[in-house]
Amino acid sequence: MTHLRVVPLAAGECLNLSALTERGAAWRVQTYPAGFTLLLHPTHGPVLFDTGYSARVPAAMRRWPGVLYGLLTPVRLDARETARSQLARLGFAAEEVENVIVSHLHADHVGGLRDFTAARFHLNPEAYAPLRHLHGMTAIRKAFMPELLPGDFEARVQPLDFQPAPPGLSPFPLAADVFEDGSASAVQVPGHAPGMIALIVRTTPDAALDGDGTGLSLLAADAAWSVRALREGREVHPLARVVFDDAAAERRSAGQLREWLAAHPRARVIVSHDAPEPGHG
Ligand SMILES: [Zn+2]
Repeated sequence: MTHLRVVPLAAGECLNLSALTERGAAWRVQTYPAGFTLLLHPTHGPVLFDTGYSARVPAAMRRWPGVLYGLLTPVRLDARETARSQLARLGFAAEEVENVIVSHLHADHVGGLRDFTAARFHLNPEAYAPLRHLHGMTAIRKAFMPELLPGDFEARVQPLDFQPAPPGLSPFPLAADVFEDGSASAVQVPGHAPGMIALIVRTTPDAALDGDGTGLSLLAADAAWSVRALREGREVHPLARVVFDDAAAERRSAGQLREWLAAHPRARVIVSHDAPEPGHG
């Protein structure tokens, strides 16, 4: 069975109030990594799940209306930390990346897309449809910065093809087999953002979706601020729910992820804004 190596990385960090990200936490400013993941596929080579920030994000935050986004979510980024720079240090040229899987279109996830000129973008169509005509303030209100997308973005989108999910992905009704080899399955976890996806990745040849999760990694994007919050069902501060695209869908998605994790307790969990669980992917 095809399996992938999973290399969690981060490109920059954002500042937020910990009291907003977890109910009951202190009112202090904390830094959160802008995580992304490098997946090494035996035939497709380096694949990205999101990109983190690039220098284009702080640049856009110096202009109106990006300034507003920067006030709400200040960004710290060292130029050597971008996805492109880190891949180069790992021996991969940006042009070698032919596949980027995009969890959702918030700026901290698509900040580096323009650096990957040879990539197609695997995306849930429902992530893009509600945003594609937005610009200026209406886009910023959705944490969307259209200028981060390459000019030929739409031509390079490869819509994820959702089909009835195999039983091992229950309770998710649908899944998209990204490379049609069972190595990476996208499931829908909308709520934080429209059309957001999580990715369930096979990291050993014998991992089975109907097993205890050994040899599987769950890349849960922004379904929770921390691994612990996702595993234990901790909630964000009620104020933080205000920025969710759809609060009811967010709860439902978190519940489905938790249910899948309860059935696969040994799966490694990686969320975008927390340190990854240790693993051997
Ligand atoms: Zn987000």
